[in-house]
Amino acid sequence: MTWDYLIVGAGFSGAVLAERLASQRGSTCLVIDRRDHIGGNAYDKRDAAGVIIHPYGPHYFRTNSDRVIEYLSQFTAWHPVEYKVLSWTHGQHWQFPINLNTFEQLLGRASTSEEMERTLAEWRVPIASPRNSEEVIVSQVGWRLYEMFFKNYTRKQWRRDPSDLDPSVCGRIPVRTNRDDRFCEEKFQALPRDGYAAMFAKILTHPKIEVRLRADFREVRQQVRYKRLIYTGPVDEYFDRCEGALPWRSLRFETETLNVEYSQPAMQVNFPNDHDYTRVVEMKHATGQKLPVTTIVREFPQDYAPGLEPYYPIPAPDARALYAKYAARAAAERDVTFVGRLATYRYYNMDQCVAAALAEFEKLAPLSA
Ligand SMILES: Cc1cc2nc3c(=O)[nH]c(=O)nc-3n(C[C@H](O)[C@H](O)[C@H](O)COP(=O)(O)OP(=O)(O)OC[C@H]3O[C@@H](n4cnc5c(N)ncnc54)[C@H](O)[C@@H]3O)c2cc1C
Repeated sequence: MTWDYLIVGAGFSGAVLAERLASQRGSTCLVIDRRDHIGGNAYDKRDAAGVIIHPYGPHYFRTNSDRVIEYLSQFTAWHPVEYKVLSWTHGQHWQFPINLNTFEQLLGRASTSEEMERTLAEWRVPIASPRNSEEVIVSQVGWRLYEMFFKNYTRKQWRRDPSDLDPSVCGRIPVRTNRDDRFCEEKFQALPRDGYAAMFAKILTHPKIEVRLRADFREVRQQVRYKRLIYTGPVDEYFDRCEGALPWRSLRFETETLNVEYSQPAMQVNFPNDHDYTRVVEMKHATGQKLPVTTIVREFPQDYAPGLEPYYPIPAPDARALYAKYAARAAAERDVTFVGRLATYRYYNMDQCVAAALAEFEKLAPLSA
């Protein structure tokens, strides 16, 4: 048979497009993924001890988009969560993102929002239009807090100095002078009640959709016939890295199950200045699972090399310039849609991927009979 669409990647981008095309246009979709599961990086599972973990790093769903909530709510109920993060440095846990409680910890006494605002006004480095991540943080909180919480964390994460990274990298972390200590700002913060994997299974359950796992595009493209391609893999790989390899950042995860109910005081503890890992995540705090054991995941950033997973595009001007060459090639490719985090080399959150996939669906011209 000839498929209407071959969709490469069963993450948010591929799954949402398959669902829309199958349910709204009656198109036949073959969704492939080279991994052995659906869900892309958002995939979750129970480990050997029964603890729900996020094997590709913690995925905190949050959004301000009613459209995205409405769309995904067809496939899942939600478990509301306030994502809580602490930062470990100078021998203690600090409230993070920086808020009035953090400021009080720093002073060693009670304070007020007014005092914090006055003090930050003195500490801030006046920079009207910050051009990079260092400037964005020192213009908000000054050098001392930048060095305590941001500088080395960012260097570890990206192996680049914050001054060589776009303002958006550190600028996405809020700084507050009240006691709001939530990690994220968005109005809707929740995990799919039965997990991401279960939600993806529902998104992809449609008689016009077939999913094939452990299937790489390089092989499948020789074996099946299709009218259009939707590609959500790395864009440089699609073009055999003909313009040069795009820089990606990869990660290594170290998992440990412990015979205690909880191992750390919050879901996520950042380590800006100690250890080789950037953070330790204990998802149980967020999932609300009741178990006598727990599992923590330590996250070690590493350079990308073929064979590793390309987790993050690098938000920096040189990387963007190289991506622009691939974007031009992608735009000239007939009957192929490049969508998602890897194919458009964008630091997208999950809700942005869903929104982009929904928008892309509307742009796709119907197939001629
Ligand atoms: C460590 C980490 C933490 C994150 N935390 C959050 C968070 O807290 N909140 C949030 O909103 N977002 C988070 N994200 C972002 C989130 O993962 C992405 O927005 C989203 O998963 C991207 O979906 P996607 O479908 O575009 O790509 P992916 O999920 O990467 O899916 C692409 C799929 O394509 C497959 N593929 C690639 N090439 C081929 C090929 N040649 N053949 C077959 N299959 C192929 C891959 O195996 C993969 O499964 C995080 C990302 C990372 C890396």
